Amino acid sequence: MQNDTNYNEGYGAENLNPVFSFALPTKIIFGSGTVRELPEALKELGIRKPLIVTDEGVAAAGILERIQRELPREIRAGVYDEVSPNPKDYQVAAVAAAYKNFGADGLVALGGGSPVDCAKAAGVLIAESGKDIRNFQGKNASTKPIPPLVTVPTTAGTGSEITFSAVITDTENRFKMTIKNAWTAAKIAVCDPDLTLSVPPAVTASTGMDALTHAIEAYTAACAEPIADAVALYAVELIYRHLPRAFADGNNVEARRGMLMGSLLAGMAFSHSDVASVHCLAEALGGMYDLPHGVCNAVMLPHVMEYNMPCCVGRYARIARAMGLTPDSGVEGAREAVRAVRQLAADVRLPVFSDFHVPEEDFRAIAEASYKNLSTPSNPRPMTTEDYLSLLRSMSKK
Ligand code: NAD
Repeated sequence: MQNDTNYNEGYGAENLNPVFSFALPTKIIFGSGTVRELPEALKELGIRKPLIVTDEGVAAAGILERIQRELPREIRAGVYDEVSPNPKDYQVAAVAAAYKNFGADGLVALGGGSPVDCAKAAGVLIAESGKDIRNFQGKNASTKPIPPLVTVPTTAGTGSEITFSAVITDTENRFKMTIKNAWTAAKIAVCDPDLTLSVPPAVTASTGMDALTHAIEAYTAACAEPIADAVALYAVELIYRHLPRAFADGNNVEARRGMLMGSLLAGMAFSHSDVASVHCLAEALGGMYDLPHGVCNAVMLPHVMEYNMPCCVGRYARIARAMGLTPDSGVEGAREAVRAVRQLAADVRLPVFSDFHVPEEDFRAIAEASYKNLSTPSNPRPMTTEDYLSLLRSMSKK
């Protein structure tokens, strides 16, 4: 481990070397009440017959109706509201079919990461005249712009409203695949924190920890770059301060604003950097057992941080400072960051790995699926299938 005196010690803490580009394809409209600007956003993109992609929970919370009320007479919207958590390949195909049958000329994704990802992936199928979304998994496998997409997030977690990826479950192989491509990004994101006021505490907790994971993994990824670094650190600050408040009181508008801004920034950070092994494990678990994505991330985050510690002392210490902690040294700061993450997950009542009761005979399959994930090479400390396996074994004993 590095010497103990400097916050900047350790892997690439200054990180001014990389060659990179930074483009934001999505116009962001942010703030309480901005949902009223949806008609203007549709007009700007020339959309007159949008297909709204959402889920039952969002509809039950009254948000779909609220959106429909905002639309003027000349805009006729169709609705697909059958997206499930961890959206499935067949739902992507169903959205693409609904889009064609309705004669839609654009997409509105309304919801958490699940409807947003389903809409993005359906956009890929529509653009490519494809039938099976599995043919477009990976980085840059699709080559055509998707139809114009407006995202309206209703959770503060995934950042999918502005990211360049969609995560879809391949139901045959029980594997969560990533479709990653700047073409999948929304044209406009209407981010109204008031739409997140109805998110129940358990979902506030899991989505919030998902956002924190994005920020921490983006900041420590092997491919981190300075603009994403800056954005990630502010995301850590906002999420660490506001998540406990949003969890304790869902009607705390200031906390909801802090969380939606934090999750958006974290999404921006990892789109330009990457996520890493926490996500690889979380997506493997989500694909195999259909567990909530944010819960899986929360469970994995402190364990992977401990594993990565030898490569991340300086960066974890900076994360501790972004959390408002004042450690005496870099090494102590790094340890405090891990302790703080573990405590935050406990404070918002999230489980630990042993609560999942994953059978030990499944560990190898989880390790193999994690290793196959696009983001394994981005982990700051190299990860093999055997490393994933031993991490799973050690965390099952804690
Ligand atoms: P989600 O979209 O699955 O929603 C979780 C639950 O919350 C649902 O039951 C939904 O109905 C309900 N809900 C949503 N908004 C609500 C509201 N305002 N009021 C009441 N209930 C509401 O959860 P999520 O965590 O936002 O998304 C998870 C998915 O996103 C996973 O599949 C994950 O892999 C993916 N993801 C994608 C990206 C990306 O960049 N594309 C990044 C991270 C995660």
